[in-house]
Amino acid sequence: MSVSTITPWVIGNWKMNPLQADALTLVHGIKNLLETAPIAADKCHIGVAPIALALTQIRTELSSATRPVYTVAQDVSRISGTGAYTGEVSAELLQDSQIHYVLIGHSERREVFAENAEVLNAKIKYALTAGLTVIYCVGESLEQREAGQAEAVVLQQICDIAAVVDAEQWKNIVIAYEPIWAIGTGKTASPEDAQAMHAQIRQGLSQITGYGATMAILYGGSVKPENAVELAACPDINGALVGGASLNAESFHKIAHAFANTQ
Ligand code: PEP
Repeated sequence: MSVSTITPWVIGNWKMNPLQADALTLVHGIKNLLETAPIAADKCHIGVAPIALALTQIRTELSSATRPVYTVAQDVSRISGTGAYTGEVSAELLQDSQIHYVLIGHSERREVFAENAEVLNAKIKYALTAGLTVIYCVGESLEQREAGQAEAVVLQQICDIAAVVDAEQWKNIVIAYEPIWAIGTGKTASPEDAQAMHAQIRQGLSQITGYGATMAILYGGSVKPENAVELAACPDINGALVGGASLNAESFHKIAHAFANTQ
């Protein structure tokens, strides 16, 4: 049954995992499952975000999958082009390696690496200019939620990027709402709470861009096969950014299957 005309996205964020041999086993597992239990490409976009070191190897492995599975970078430099910036990988260098998708604004980058709106805006600006699709992560902390500030915080994070996104570039942005208190904790926002926030985000986006009604808004925070069906049934939840459960091929495939079945 269709709850939305937006094709959902299910993206696995592998974070600083796994070891090389396990990453290959994981990719082979995903490819095998997509062969034996296909998920049509027009029913769900699927992607995985490995460590930077593995991006090109995983992309090559995925090129023989029975359907497109995108390789997504977990980060990009706030500096564009090439030059004397030790340790950095720019948006242009990702494109040059045929990596067309990038996560920006993950709460771990915001918190552990002190990435503020200025840094994130530079990353978003250069990523979009280089032609990357940006998965922009937003979300409130537990303290902010308990203080009744969740919506204001999240909408501010959306507004923050408006200054650097050109009118036509909004169609190259996917939003991932990830309440920080739900990431890696086993706690998930209830489908009702998540849907309510997603509806607010869509309303906010619609005030900023004509693409608001058609942009995918993913949910992230302890998504697993056991809660994916309920989340997928919510009209404004157009997919999932999956951490822990994406390190298991069967779990990841089940989550993608749940979202594809809403189409
Ligand atoms: C994430 O890292 O984006 C995430 C949502 O992690 P987890 O699914 O493990 O909560």
